[in-house]
Parts: sequence; structure tokens; C-alpha cells
Amino acid sequence: MSRSPGAGRFAPSPSADLHIGNLRTAILAWLFARTTGRRFLMRVEDLDDRTFPEVAARQLDDLAALGLDWDGPTEYQTAHGHRYDAAIAELSGRGLTFECYCSRKDILSAPRAPHAPEGAYPGTCRDLTDAQREQRRTTGRPPALRLRSDVTEYTVSDVLHGDYTGVVDDLVLRRGDGVPAYNLAVVVDDAATGIDQVVRGDDLLSSSPRQAYLAALLGHSAPVYAHVPLVLNAEGKRLAKRDGAVTLAEIGVAAALRQIADSLGYRSATVGGMLDEFDPARLPREPWIYRPA
Ligand code: GLU
Ligand code: ZN
Repeated sequence: MSRSPGAGRFAPSPSADLHIGNLRTAILAWLFARTTGRRFLMRVEDLDDRTFPEVAARQLDDLAALGLDWDGPTEYQTAHGHRYDAAIAELSGRGLTFECYCSRKDILSAPRAPHAPEGAYPGTCRDLTDAQREQRRTTGRPPALRLRSDVTEYTVSDVLHGDYTGVVDDLVLRRGDGVPAYNLAVVVDDAATGIDQVVRGDDLLSSSPRQAYLAALLGHSAPVYAHVPLVLNAEGKRLAKRDGAVTLAEIGVAAALRQIADSLGYRSATVGGMLDEFDPARLPREPWIYRPA
């Protein structure tokens, strides 16, 4: 059986410059793809209106400055609205969506089923009558579109975490402002571009069951996941701009590569050298505590 090589990817949101933790995740995604004979794709996740083209340009420059390369042109999600529309139309045609009129506050204050996790959608708008829906439509808030999910959890397979089972609720497919939701866009884009390996920060591990379930509904197989440890500051919190010198412009290319190599236990401080030393089984499982110089 012959099959075309799959692809890995990095998918930054251009809301702020990449920090050393994001750069390290990008290098790991590239190493995972290149050591498994995959193509490596770059996708700018610019659907949200708090993203900026000039930030995207700096992110791509930074990744190239580290020595990373990617195959084909960089994709921008804003250029692919029809993909998301088609997927949503397909799910709606199969009766798998419903309009949701809830605010965030409504969702947090609604009674939850026993064992339902905080923040999971309580099902408020799932089975409204036509009359109730008509009534809610007149209240002004443009509805979000949610998936009518028929599971409450789903299991994915992760290179670093093994089998991981997590919550699947009636996730948002299209936000009230009309923007395709993150979970939908990721699944549709990964499938449309032949991505079968997803390497990203482990803050997204808990989203992967929702995404794999949605992929299955759309007839796609789930990618191989590798959720890598985040980089934290000295207080054990997620690294942020206010922690000091954390971007490539602040740290410098050579120093950033040296710090990332040290954090992964590699002698070589070039991405080409790391390629020879890369062994997924030996990746650190603990967060990297970063102390800016
Ligand atoms: N754009 C997302 C982020 O920067 C990553 C999405 C993904 O890798 O699935 O956090
Ligand atoms: Zn609702």
C-alpha cells in the first residue's frame, strides 16, 4: 500500500510575538515532522480580530531565523472561509448543529449535570422548541452555532501522554460574531492540508478529544498527537511578556538556540544538529522553567 507522506505543522496565532516557549514548541514540531519523513507546514491562525499581519510577519521571520523551513506557501486561515462554511453546512445538513443564544455568564450559571466539568456547555439551547427559538432570536444577541455532540468524552492517542480521554461537549463551531471557532478551523485545516501529526503545547491537550471527535464526524482520521510541556516562569506560571526578555528580538538567535538546546539536553545549538540528536522517548516530560537573563 503506498501512501503520500503526511505532514506536521506549526500554527501560530499572530496576536503577540512568539516567546521562547513558543519557539521551542515550533522547533519540536519541526523535529517531529522532519524525523518522521513528513512535510512541515506553516499555518497562521488569523481568524480572530485580535491578530495582526505585522505580528504574523515577525513570527515567520523569527522561525526562519532559527533555521526552520517549511514546505509550500504559508497558509492564512482568513483565506479559507469557504472550507469552514462547507464543513459547517455539512454538519448542519446532517442535523448535527443548533443555535445557541447563551452568554458566557448564562453558561457558567446554568445548572450542570452531575460530573459535568466547569465550563462545559450545559445543553441549554439544545432542544428548544421553534417558538422558544423565535423568542430568543428577537432578544438581539446573534447566536453561536454549536455541535450537537452525541458523546461526552473521547480518547486520543498522544506520543507523550499515551491514551488520553477528555471531555467532549456541544462545542462552538461558529461564534456569534460569525467567525469560525478555533476547534472547527483547526480540524478542517489539518484535514484539508494532509496534516496527520499535531505537535503543540500541552495546554491544548484537553482540546484534542473535541477536535478528534469532530474530525471523525467529518470523516477524517485523527492525527498523531504530541503535546509538549509548556515553558513556565520562575513562579510556575505560563511565561509572559512581563517576565522580561522572552522574545527572539530580546534574547538573540544564538542565545535562544543555546537555551532551547540545553532545555532539551542537546549538545548542538543548531536545528540541523538537533535533528541528529532528536529522540521523542527522551524528551523532558516536565515544564521548562525559564529565567530570563
Ligand atoms: N493557534 C494556536 C495557538 O497558537 C495553536 C493551535 C494548534 O496548534 O492546534 O495557541
Ligand atoms: Zn445556549
